[in-house]
Amino acid sequence: MSISLIGRGVCESATLKLNETFSILKAKGEPVIHLGGGEPKSKAPFDAITAAAGLLNSGEIRYAPVDGTVEMKQAIIRYTMEYYGRKVEPENVIASGGAKQAIMVAMQAILNPQDEVLFIAPYYVSYPEMIKLCGAVPIAVSPEDGSFCPALNDITRNITSYTKMIIINSPNNPTGTVYPPSLIQGIVEFCEKKGIYLLMDDIYHRLIFDGKKVANPFEYTKKDIENSKLIIINGVSKQYAMTGFRIGWAVANKNLIRVMSNIQGHQTSGPSILLQRAAIGAINGIQSYVESLRLTLENNRNVLIQYLKTIDGLKIHVPEGTFYSFIDFSAYEKSSATLSKLLLDKVRVLTVPGVEFGTEGYLRISFCGSIKDITEGIERIKWVIDPGSSNELFIGQRKLVRDWK
Ligand code: PMP
Repeated sequence: MSISLIGRGVCESATLKLNETFSILKAKGEPVIHLGGGEPKSKAPFDAITAAAGLLNSGEIRYAPVDGTVEMKQAIIRYTMEYYGRKVEPENVIASGGAKQAIMVAMQAILNPQDEVLFIAPYYVSYPEMIKLCGAVPIAVSPEDGSFCPALNDITRNITSYTKMIIINSPNNPTGTVYPPSLIQGIVEFCEKKGIYLLMDDIYHRLIFDGKKVANPFEYTKKDIENSKLIIINGVSKQYAMTGFRIGWAVANKNLIRVMSNIQGHQTSGPSILLQRAAIGAINGIQSYVESLRLTLENNRNVLIQYLKTIDGLKIHVPEGTFYSFIDFSAYEKSSATLSKLLLDKVRVLTVPGVEFGTEGYLRISFCGSIKDITEGIERIKWVIDPGSSNELFIGQRKLVRDWK
């Protein structure tokens, strides 16, 4: 079988694979706990459902405009005004099949083979693969001080004449770190000076805790949007718990959006008209939904951290946003893949190995599930790794005997 170079170079999504593993084990009746998930468990907002149901009942579900319906664009324009204080026009906006597709078509519109794209480690699993799909070169930058927050210098010293784009994801998947405004200001100004595209993946920007604020890159740009290489990515997946609806968007200069639309038009056509209707319902609907989800996640985070603190030897960074924590387990096991597999095999707890995010020794533990899953999941993990644990553990009727290290 002959497979393309690009096809051969792209890896499976570790996080989506994990969801598959979870479904298979669940279907077999295994007492599995998913602490590797990437989606809130709340139901989609009522406003989203009623909006989509109205159109569905009409039975007339047709093609949508490639870059989004008029109403979808209006909703995104209003959103951009509300959260970024920037008035944009319909030609500055494209709606896509999830934030993922918005990022992908932006990359396809910008990148040539050999171009370099820089992003901060630990990073979202899809960035390197999306960049490779364009034949371009992923450059992951780890903060020199070993923290999750880079200094501007960590970024600037990795810039070469091939650097075409920088991706910033704040709050960050997988660490939950919110980058400080001074860093965002520095990056915006640096990119403008060097003519580098800056893609802000803001998919978690409303899911933040402790009264923190996410920096608004538009505050630091000196250019008007048509002369700017700033791209803002957002979507309904996380903030409205609408991952299955597959609606995301990009805001950028009109030239870039036109090219992105051309690409999307041949790739998938416009995102489903039905699902755009649902997204419009969510964006224009009652926003207390997002606040209530945010509060639930903040409470889940607090419980998770409290439980993790009962395990000696872990290095815990308290996430400031998202629904992920990225925990250093290296005192117990250096290989995150080995530890993650052990936890799945022994106590049926799913976690994502840090190596998938470019940082070894860590596990990503999500707190988007129920409190029961979080507390029981961490207790099971503790039982496996803590040498002081009792010899036996009961999971339902099943009796487990400790035999690791
Ligand atoms: N960016 C980041 C950082 C993400 O974590 C995700 C989803 N896990 C996406 C983009 C893609 O979101 P969507 O569901 O809108 O495609």
